[in-house]
Amino acid sequence: MSHATTPVLVIHGGAGVIKRDMNPAREKAVRAALAQALQNGYGQLKAGKPAMDAVTAAITVLENDPNFNAGKGAVFTHDGKNELDAAVMDGFTLKAGAIAGVHRVKNPILLARAVMDKSPHVMLAGDGAEAFAKEVGVELVDPSYFRTEERWQQLQKALKEDAEHRQHEDMETARHFGTVGAVALDTQGRLAAGTSTGGMTNKRWGRIGDSPLIGAGTYANNGCAVSGTGWGEFYIRTVAAHEICMRVTQMRVPLKRAAAEVINQEIPSMGGNGGAIALDAQGNVAMPFNTDGMFRGWIGEDGKPHVAIYGDEDDGTHDPLPASESSAE
Ligand code: ASP
Repeated sequence: MSHATTPVLVIHGGAGVIKRDMNPAREKAVRAALAQALQNGYGQLKAGKPAMDAVTAAITVLENDPNFNAGKGAVFTHDGKNELDAAVMDGFTLKAGAIAGVHRVKNPILLARAVMDKSPHVMLAGDGAEAFAKEVGVELVDPSYFRTEERWQQLQKALKEDAEHRQHEDMETARHFGTVGAVALDTQGRLAAGTSTGGMTNKRWGRIGDSPLIGAGTYANNGCAVSGTGWGEFYIRTVAAHEICMRVTQMRVPLKRAAAEVINQEIPSMGGNGGAIALDAQGNVAMPFNTDGMFRGWIGEDGKPHVAIYGDEDDGTHDPLPASESSAE
């Protein structure tokens, strides 16, 4: 392996950070979980495993942690259920797998991967996806496993606000974001992306967001990998993840600029918000967002997890863009 690439892993735990709602204990728990996810994923890369293994290893840690809106701790639908979506894409083979609207799959990202590896399809939904999980031995749990009191209270608050026809800006943010995602570059220069989510608090009618849609919330090719978090409807309409990667690989736009254009200019100009993580084949990292914060982190050559939450925090990516291009305003 004389041309071995230096591996890099980037993760997010959602752009739904509301500064006022954070406290030192929660901050500590979130930072520890992000660091653990980075270490687990990076361990795969250091062992020479494919980028996809790092993506699923990191996301599994975040799905199992109740602080994030994915797996355990997922938000509730209008009907009081946890309905989970996830996707993976391998940038080297351009293969992808996705699942939507499952209620019993402990780690949705592992089922998305199984769809990619073991089925002739790209996307499975609902009962069929769970039947497939059973067939291929992906762990199923009782739906009560996903429940947390905090998420339940968020639903009660959302229902009350709806009944009173009130829309609180913070609540809108809390409703829409919290997804987890990862993008990785392995020692052989292969890229991969994955995203897992409970979607949006109070979602109805089998609503599916951008996360499991290849090209919208998740995308990878041989030059770029992206995982998004934010108001999914806007990510779908801008085909955000694919759009960023096309600018990078077809139009030769630098990664940070391409990601900032889509996330911090085009999505807000349509009325949406959120963030994304992006990685190119040279190991450049971009983590733009336009909310109070985005749970995020990366790990590269020095093998140390770099973790950040707020916008004014140095996340070590040394964004060279002028402020006018790297923030929403
Ligand atoms: N993008 C996700 C969705 O719309 C939500 C999130 O990022 O938390 O389902």
